[in-house]
Amino acid sequence: MTQPPAISQKMLNFMEKSSWIRKMFEEGIKLKKLHGQDKVFDFSLGNPDLPPPDAFEQALARIASNPQPGVHAYMPNAGLDSVKARVAARVAEDHNTETITKDEIIMTCGAAGGLNIIFKAILNSKDEVITPAPYFVEYGFYVDNHGGKLVPVSANSDFSLNLSAIERAITPKTKAVLINSPHNPTGAVYAQNELKDLIQILKNASQSMGNTIFLISDEPYRRLAFDGIRVPAILELYENAIITTSFSKDLSIPGERIGYVAVHPDCPCKSQLLGAMTLANRILGFVNAPALMQRVVAEVLNESVNVNIYQRRRDLFASILSEAGYDFTLPKGAFYFFPKTPIEDVKFVSLLQDELILAVPGTGFGCPGHMRLAFCVDEAVIEGARAGFKRAIERAKGM
Ligand code: PLP
Repeated sequence: MTQPPAISQKMLNFMEKSSWIRKMFEEGIKLKKLHGQDKVFDFSLGNPDLPPPDAFEQALARIASNPQPGVHAYMPNAGLDSVKARVAARVAEDHNTETITKDEIIMTCGAAGGLNIIFKAILNSKDEVITPAPYFVEYGFYVDNHGGKLVPVSANSDFSLNLSAIERAITPKTKAVLINSPHNPTGAVYAQNELKDLIQILKNASQSMGNTIFLISDEPYRRLAFDGIRVPAILELYENAIITTSFSKDLSIPGERIGYVAVHPDCPCKSQLLGAMTLANRILGFVNAPALMQRVVAEVLNESVNVNIYQRRRDLFASILSEAGYDFTLPKGAFYFFPKTPIEDVKFVSLLQDELILAVPGTGFGCPGHMRLAFCVDEAVIEGARAGFKRAIERAKGM
Protein backbone atom coordinates (compact mmCIF):
# COMPACT_ATOMS: atom_id res chain seq x y z
CA MET A 1 0.00 0.00 0.00
CA THR A 2 1.44 3.43 -0.93
CA GLN A 3 1.68 5.84 1.98
CA PRO A 4 0.47 9.42 1.69
CA PRO A 5 3.32 11.98 1.50
CA ALA A 6 4.79 12.89 4.88
CA ILE A 7 4.71 16.61 4.19
CA SER A 8 1.66 18.75 3.57
CA GLN A 9 -0.18 18.56 0.26
CA LYS A 10 -0.26 22.36 0.17
CA MET A 11 3.54 22.58 0.35
CA LEU A 12 3.87 19.93 -2.33
CA ASN A 13 1.67 22.07 -4.58
CA PHE A 14 3.57 25.23 -3.68
CA MET A 15 6.92 23.61 -4.44
CA GLU A 16 5.63 22.80 -7.91
CA LYS A 17 4.19 26.29 -8.43
CA SER A 18 7.23 28.17 -7.16
CA SER A 19 9.69 26.30 -9.27
CA TRP A 20 10.25 28.64 -12.26
CA ILE A 21 13.12 30.67 -10.89
CA ARG A 22 14.60 27.56 -9.23
CA LYS A 23 14.32 25.66 -12.52
CA MET A 24 16.20 28.39 -14.34
CA PHE A 25 18.78 28.50 -11.56
CA GLU A 26 19.39 24.75 -11.84
CA GLU A 27 19.45 24.98 -15.63
CA GLY A 28 22.08 27.74 -15.30
CA ILE A 29 24.33 25.58 -13.11
CA LYS A 30 24.05 22.73 -15.63
CA LEU A 31 24.78 24.92 -18.65
CA LYS A 32 27.69 26.70 -16.94
CA LYS A 33 29.28 23.33 -16.08
CA LEU A 34 28.85 22.13 -19.63
CA HIS A 35 29.88 25.25 -21.56
CA GLY A 36 31.91 27.33 -19.07
CA GLN A 37 30.81 30.17 -16.81
CA ASP A 38 31.56 32.93 -19.33
CA LYS A 39 29.62 31.30 -22.19
CA VAL A 40 26.24 31.41 -20.39
CA PHE A 41 24.20 34.65 -20.28
CA ASP A 42 22.22 34.39 -17.09
CA PHE A 43 19.42 36.96 -16.66
CA SER A 44 17.33 34.79 -14.37
CA LEU A 45 18.17 36.12 -10.90
CA GLY A 46 17.38 39.41 -9.16
CA ASN A 47 20.49 39.14 -7.03
CA PRO A 48 22.35 42.50 -7.04
CA ASP A 49 25.90 42.07 -8.33
CA LEU A 50 27.27 45.55 -7.47
CA PRO A 51 29.36 45.70 -4.30
CA PRO A 52 27.84 47.60 -1.36
CA PRO A 53 28.97 51.25 -1.07
CA ASP A 54 32.33 51.77 0.67
CA ALA A 55 30.57 53.65 3.47
CA PHE A 56 28.63 50.48 4.30
CA GLU A 57 31.80 48.36 4.56
CA GLN A 58 33.45 51.05 6.69
CA ALA A 59 30.48 51.34 9.07
CA LEU A 60 30.35 47.54 9.36
CA ALA A 61 34.08 47.34 10.18
CA ARG A 62 33.84 50.20 12.69
CA ILE A 63 30.85 48.79 14.53
CA ALA A 64 32.07 45.18 14.50
CA SER A 65 35.48 46.14 15.89
CA ASN A 66 34.02 48.19 18.76
CA PRO A 67 31.75 45.79 20.61
CA GLN A 68 29.81 47.42 23.45
CA PRO A 69 28.31 45.37 26.31
CA GLY A 70 24.94 43.95 25.31
CA VAL A 71 25.25 44.50 21.55
CA HIS A 72 24.37 40.88 20.89
CA ALA A 73 21.44 40.77 23.32
CA TYR A 74 17.73 40.41 22.57
CA MET A 75 16.08 43.77 22.12
CA PRO A 76 12.53 45.14 21.76
CA ASN A 77 10.81 43.20 18.96
CA ALA A 78 10.33 46.39 16.90
CA GLY A 79 14.08 47.16 16.93
CA LEU A 80 16.48 49.60 18.53
CA ASP A 81 15.06 53.02 19.39
CA SER A 82 18.15 54.89 18.22
CA VAL A 83 17.99 53.14 14.82
CA LYS A 84 14.24 53.64 14.42
CA ALA A 85 14.65 57.36 15.11
CA ARG A 86 17.15 57.71 12.26
CA VAL A 87 15.00 55.60 9.95
CA ALA A 88 11.97 57.79 10.76
CA ALA A 89 13.95 60.83 9.59
CA ARG A 90 14.67 59.09 6.28
CA VAL A 91 11.00 58.10 5.85
CA ALA A 92 9.96 61.69 6.62
CA GLU A 93 12.07 62.81 3.66
CA ASP A 94 11.06 60.05 1.24
CA HIS A 95 7.36 60.41 2.05
CA ASN A 96 6.96 64.11 2.86
CA THR A 97 5.62 63.16 6.28
CA GLU A 98 7.43 65.28 8.84
CA THR A 99 5.44 64.09 11.84
CA ILE A 100 6.54 60.46 11.60
CA THR A 101 8.53 59.26 14.64
CA LYS A 102 10.43 56.17 15.71
CA ASP A 103 7.20 54.81 17.21
CA GLU A 104 5.76 54.30 13.72
CA ILE A 105 8.77 52.25 12.54
CA ILE A 106 9.41 48.51 12.95
CA MET A 107 12.77 47.08 11.89
CA THR A 108 12.31 43.82 9.95
CA CYS A 109 14.10 40.93 8.29
CA GLY A 110 14.01 42.50 4.83
CA ALA A 111 10.94 43.59 2.89
CA ALA A 112 9.85 39.94 2.91
CA GLY A 113 9.79 39.96 6.72
CA GLY A 114 7.92 43.28 6.54
CA LEU A 115 5.21 41.90 4.26
CA ASN A 116 4.75 38.87 6.49
CA ILE A 117 4.25 40.91 9.67
CA ILE A 118 1.82 43.21 7.85
CA PHE A 119 -0.29 40.32 6.56
CA LYS A 120 -0.16 38.52 9.92
CA ALA A 121 -1.42 41.72 11.57
CA ILE A 122 -4.29 42.59 9.22
CA LEU A 123 -5.68 39.43 7.61
CA ASN A 124 -8.61 37.38 8.82
CA SER A 125 -9.21 34.03 7.17
CA LYS A 126 -9.96 34.41 3.41
CA ASP A 127 -9.45 38.17 3.42
CA GLU A 128 -8.37 39.40 0.02
CA VAL A 129 -5.29 41.35 -1.07
CA ILE A 130 -5.47 42.85 -4.55
CA THR A 131 -2.24 43.27 -6.51
CA PRO A 132 -1.50 44.24 -10.11
CA ALA A 133 -0.29 41.36 -12.31
CA PRO A 134 2.43 40.58 -13.20
CA TYR A 135 3.64 40.45 -9.62
CA PHE A 136 6.53 39.28 -7.43
CA VAL A 137 5.68 35.61 -7.11
CA GLU A 138 6.26 35.44 -3.34
CA TYR A 139 3.23 37.67 -2.71
CA GLY A 140 0.87 34.73 -3.18
CA PHE A 141 2.77 32.65 -0.63
CA TYR A 142 3.06 35.46 1.92
CA VAL A 143 -0.67 36.22 1.79
CA ASP A 144 -1.43 32.51 2.07
CA ASN A 145 0.91 32.22 5.08
CA HIS A 146 -1.64 34.29 7.00
CA GLY A 147 -4.83 32.72 5.69
CA GLY A 148 -5.59 35.33 3.04
CA LYS A 149 -6.12 35.17 -0.69
CA LEU A 150 -4.12 37.10 -3.29
CA VAL A 151 -6.30 38.60 -6.03
CA PRO A 152 -4.14 39.47 -9.06
CA VAL A 153 -5.60 42.09 -11.42
CA SER A 154 -3.97 42.54 -14.83
CA ALA A 155 -2.10 45.81 -15.27
CA ASN A 156 -2.46 47.92 -18.43
CA SER A 157 -0.28 46.91 -21.38
CA ASP A 158 2.33 49.54 -20.42
CA PHE A 159 2.20 48.09 -16.85
CA SER A 160 0.52 51.16 -15.37
CA LEU A 161 -2.29 50.46 -12.87
CA ASN A 162 -5.58 49.32 -14.39
CA LEU A 163 -7.66 51.40 -11.99
CA SER A 164 -11.10 50.37 -13.22
CA ALA A 165 -10.15 46.68 -12.97
CA ILE A 166 -8.84 47.23 -9.43
CA GLU A 167 -12.08 49.01 -8.51
CA ARG A 168 -14.14 46.13 -9.91
CA ALA A 169 -12.06 43.59 -7.95
CA ILE A 170 -12.85 45.18 -4.56
CA THR A 171 -15.26 43.13 -2.42
CA PRO A 172 -16.31 43.24 1.25
CA LYS A 173 -13.38 40.83 1.89
CA THR A 174 -10.77 43.23 0.45
CA LYS A 175 -8.31 44.16 3.18
CA ALA A 176 -5.55 45.76 1.16
CA VAL A 177 -4.18 46.69 -2.22
CA LEU A 178 -0.51 45.81 -2.53
CA ILE A 179 1.64 47.81 -4.93
CA ASN A 180 5.34 47.69 -5.73
CA SER A 181 7.10 50.62 -7.39
CA PRO A 182 9.68 50.54 -8.97
CA HIS A 183 8.24 47.22 -9.97
CA ASN A 184 9.55 43.68 -10.15
CA PRO A 185 9.26 42.26 -12.83
CA THR A 186 8.34 45.17 -15.14
CA GLY A 187 10.44 48.16 -14.01
CA ALA A 188 7.29 50.33 -13.92
CA VAL A 189 7.19 53.36 -11.62
CA TYR A 190 3.65 54.56 -10.84
CA ALA A 191 2.96 58.25 -11.40
CA GLN A 192 1.63 60.41 -8.60
CA ASN A 193 -1.71 61.01 -10.39
CA GLU A 194 -2.21 57.29 -10.83
CA LEU A 195 -1.58 56.79 -7.10
CA LYS A 196 -3.92 59.61 -6.15
CA ASP A 197 -6.68 58.05 -8.28
CA LEU A 198 -6.04 54.64 -6.72
CA ILE A 199 -6.27 56.12 -3.24
CA GLN A 200 -9.54 57.86 -4.06
CA ILE A 201 -10.93 54.47 -5.11
CA LEU A 202 -9.77 52.95 -1.80
CA LYS A 203 -11.27 55.81 0.21
CA ASN A 204 -14.62 55.53 -1.58
CA ALA A 205 -14.73 51.75 -1.22
CA SER A 206 -13.66 51.88 2.45
CA GLN A 207 -16.47 54.31 3.12
CA SER A 208 -19.18 52.48 1.22
CA MET A 209 -18.25 49.09 2.72
CA GLY A 210 -17.48 50.36 6.21
CA ASN A 211 -14.04 48.62 6.18
CA THR A 212 -10.53 49.95 6.19
CA ILE A 213 -8.73 49.11 2.95
CA PHE A 214 -4.99 49.53 3.44
CA LEU A 215 -2.57 50.51 0.72
CA ILE A 216 0.61 48.47 1.20
CA SER A 217 3.57 49.88 -0.69
CA ASP A 218 6.43 47.40 -1.13
CA GLU A 219 9.33 49.55 -2.22
CA PRO A 220 12.78 47.92 -1.98
CA TYR A 221 13.72 49.50 -5.35
CA ARG A 222 12.73 53.11 -4.40
CA ARG A 223 16.28 54.37 -4.84
CA LEU A 224 16.84 52.51 -8.09
CA ALA A 225 14.92 54.84 -10.41
CA PHE A 226 16.34 56.05 -13.73
CA ASP A 227 16.51 59.29 -15.71
CA GLY A 228 16.33 61.36 -12.54
CA ILE A 229 12.69 60.51 -11.80
CA ARG A 230 11.59 60.71 -8.19
CA VAL A 231 9.41 57.84 -7.02
CA PRO A 232 6.26 59.50 -5.60
CA ALA A 233 5.83 59.63 -1.83
CA ILE A 234 3.02 57.39 -0.59
CA LEU A 235 2.51 58.21 3.08
CA GLU A 236 1.68 61.85 2.35
CA LEU A 237 -1.24 60.68 0.18
CA TYR A 238 -3.15 58.24 2.42
CA GLU A 239 -3.38 57.74 6.16
CA ASN A 240 -4.11 54.02 5.77
CA ALA A 241 -0.83 53.46 3.91
CA ILE A 242 1.80 51.03 5.18
CA ILE A 243 5.30 51.07 3.69
CA THR A 244 7.63 48.10 3.64
CA THR A 245 11.12 48.22 2.25
CA SER A 246 14.64 46.93 2.70
CA PHE A 247 18.28 47.73 2.06
CA SER A 248 18.67 44.61 -0.08
CA LYS A 249 18.78 46.36 -3.43
CA ASP A 250 19.94 49.92 -2.76
CA LEU A 251 22.87 48.79 -0.59
CA SER A 252 23.30 45.41 -2.38
CA ILE A 253 23.01 43.42 0.87
CA PRO A 254 20.04 41.02 0.37
CA GLY A 255 21.70 38.26 2.38
CA GLU A 256 21.83 40.47 5.48
CA ARG A 257 18.03 40.49 5.80
CA ILE A 258 17.42 44.02 6.98
CA GLY A 259 14.53 46.38 6.25
CA TYR A 260 11.64 48.15 7.94
CA VAL A 261 7.92 48.88 7.99
CA ALA A 262 6.54 52.41 8.42
CA VAL A 263 2.96 53.31 9.31
CA HIS A 264 1.30 56.66 8.66
CA PRO A 265 1.41 58.74 11.86
CA ASP A 266 -2.32 59.55 11.50
CA CYS A 267 -3.48 56.01 10.71
CA PRO A 268 -6.66 55.62 12.81
CA CYS A 269 -5.78 52.07 13.95
CA LYS A 270 -2.08 52.91 14.38
CA SER A 271 -1.46 51.60 17.87
CA GLN A 272 -3.23 48.27 17.33
CA LEU A 273 -1.57 47.86 13.94
CA LEU A 274 1.92 48.56 15.30
CA GLY A 275 1.28 46.37 18.34
CA ALA A 276 0.10 43.49 16.13
CA MET A 277 3.05 43.78 13.76
CA THR A 278 5.54 43.95 16.63
CA LEU A 279 4.05 40.80 18.12
CA ALA A 280 4.07 39.21 14.65
CA ASN A 281 7.82 39.93 14.38
CA ARG A 282 8.23 37.90 17.59
CA ILE A 283 5.86 35.02 17.00
CA LEU A 284 6.72 34.43 13.36
CA GLY A 285 10.15 33.63 14.72
CA PHE A 286 11.99 36.68 13.38
CA VAL A 287 12.06 37.97 17.03
CA ASN A 288 13.84 41.13 15.90
CA ALA A 289 15.75 42.33 12.84
CA PRO A 290 19.50 41.45 12.95
CA ALA A 291 21.15 43.58 15.68
CA LEU A 292 24.45 44.26 13.95
CA MET A 293 22.80 45.21 10.65
CA GLN A 294 20.36 47.57 12.37
CA ARG A 295 23.32 49.52 13.75
CA VAL A 296 25.19 49.49 10.45
CA VAL A 297 22.36 50.63 8.16
CA ALA A 298 21.49 53.44 10.59
CA GLU A 299 24.92 54.92 9.77
CA VAL A 300 24.46 54.83 5.99
CA LEU A 301 20.83 55.77 5.40
CA ASN A 302 21.72 58.22 2.65
CA GLU A 303 24.03 55.85 0.80
CA SER A 304 23.12 53.81 -2.24
CA VAL A 305 24.83 51.84 -4.99
CA ASN A 306 25.51 53.86 -8.13
CA VAL A 307 22.19 53.79 -9.98
CA ASN A 308 23.91 55.10 -13.13
CA ILE A 309 25.53 51.70 -13.56
CA TYR A 310 22.09 50.03 -13.71
CA GLN A 311 20.86 52.77 -16.02
CA ARG A 312 23.75 52.20 -18.45
CA ARG A 313 22.99 48.48 -18.50
CA ARG A 314 19.32 49.21 -19.11
CA ASP A 315 20.20 51.41 -22.07
CA LEU A 316 22.53 48.82 -23.57
CA PHE A 317 19.95 46.05 -23.07
CA ALA A 318 17.21 48.23 -24.60
CA SER A 319 19.31 48.83 -27.71
CA ILE A 320 19.98 45.09 -28.10
CA LEU A 321 16.31 44.15 -27.66
CA SER A 322 15.12 46.89 -30.05
CA GLU A 323 17.66 45.97 -32.70
CA ALA A 324 16.50 42.35 -32.56
CA GLY A 325 12.82 43.36 -32.79
CA TYR A 326 11.50 42.61 -29.28
CA ASP A 327 8.39 44.39 -28.03
CA PHE A 328 9.01 45.87 -24.56
CA THR A 329 8.30 48.82 -22.27
CA LEU A 330 11.43 50.65 -21.13
CA PRO A 331 11.92 50.08 -17.38
CA LYS A 332 11.90 53.28 -15.31
CA GLY A 333 13.50 51.63 -12.29
CA ALA A 334 14.58 48.36 -10.58
CA PHE A 335 16.68 46.05 -12.76
CA TYR A 336 14.31 44.06 -14.92
CA PHE A 337 12.95 44.03 -18.47
CA PHE A 338 9.65 42.27 -19.10
CA PRO A 339 9.41 41.98 -22.91
CA LYS A 340 6.66 40.19 -24.80
CA THR A 341 7.65 36.79 -26.14
CA PRO A 342 6.98 36.24 -29.86
CA ILE A 343 5.59 32.76 -29.12
CA GLU A 344 4.34 31.06 -25.93
CA ASP A 345 6.69 32.16 -23.12
CA VAL A 346 7.85 28.76 -21.84
CA LYS A 347 8.65 27.66 -25.42
CA PHE A 348 10.48 30.89 -26.18
CA VAL A 349 12.53 30.74 -23.00
CA SER A 350 13.66 27.30 -24.11
CA LEU A 351 14.70 28.71 -27.54
CA LEU A 352 16.77 31.27 -25.63
CA GLN A 353 18.32 28.45 -23.62
CA ASP A 354 19.55 26.93 -26.88
CA GLU A 355 21.46 30.21 -27.22
CA LEU A 356 22.74 29.81 -23.61
CA ILE A 357 20.54 32.74 -22.52
CA LEU A 358 18.57 32.28 -19.30
CA ALA A 359 15.30 34.16 -18.76
CA VAL A 360 12.26 33.45 -16.56
CA PRO A 361 8.88 32.89 -18.28
CA GLY A 362 6.20 35.49 -17.50
CA THR A 363 3.96 32.59 -16.43
CA GLY A 364 6.03 32.52 -13.23
CA PHE A 365 4.82 36.09 -12.48
CA GLY A 366 1.16 35.57 -13.34
CA CYS A 367 1.60 37.06 -16.83
CA PRO A 368 2.14 34.57 -19.66
CA GLY A 369 3.38 35.79 -23.05
CA HIS A 370 6.30 37.68 -21.48
CA MET A 371 9.68 36.92 -19.94
CA ARG A 372 11.73 38.55 -17.20
CA LEU A 373 15.32 39.54 -17.88
CA ALA A 374 17.25 40.71 -14.80
CA PHE A 375 20.13 43.04 -15.57
CA CYS A 376 22.06 42.81 -12.34
CA VAL A 377 24.92 41.39 -14.40
CA ASP A 378 27.98 42.92 -16.01
CA GLU A 379 27.60 44.82 -19.31
CA ALA A 380 29.79 42.17 -20.96
CA VAL A 381 27.12 39.53 -20.23
CA ILE A 382 24.42 41.72 -21.80
CA GLU A 383 26.60 42.46 -24.83
CA GLY A 384 27.55 38.79 -25.15
CA ALA A 385 23.89 37.82 -25.54
CA ARG A 386 23.26 40.21 -28.47
CA ALA A 387 23.56 37.63 -31.25
CA GLY A 388 21.62 34.97 -29.31
CA PHE A 389 18.64 37.28 -28.73
CA LYS A 390 18.55 37.95 -32.49
CA ARG A 391 18.79 34.31 -33.51
CA ALA A 392 16.11 33.21 -31.02
CA ILE A 393 13.52 35.71 -32.28
CA GLU A 394 14.33 34.79 -35.89
CA ARG A 395 13.79 31.10 -35.10
CA ALA A 396 10.50 31.89 -33.34
CA LYS A 397 9.28 33.83 -36.38
CA GLY A 398 10.02 30.82 -38.56
CA MET A 399 7.93 28.45 -36.37
N1 PLP B 1 9.43 42.70 -2.88
C1 PLP B 1 9.92 42.67 -4.13
C2 PLP B 1 9.14 43.29 -5.21
C3 PLP B 1 11.13 42.04 -4.40
O1 PLP B 1 11.61 41.99 -5.65
C4 PLP B 1 11.85 41.44 -3.33
C5 PLP B 1 13.10 40.72 -3.58
O2 PLP B 1 13.53 40.48 -4.67
C6 PLP B 1 11.30 41.51 -2.05
C7 PLP B 1 10.09 42.14 -1.85
C8 PLP B 1 11.99 40.90 -0.89
O3 PLP B 1 13.01 41.75 -0.50
P1 PLP B 1 14.00 41.36 0.69
O4 PLP B 1 14.99 40.39 0.14
O5 PLP B 1 14.61 42.63 1.08
O6 PLP B 1 13.19 40.76 1.77
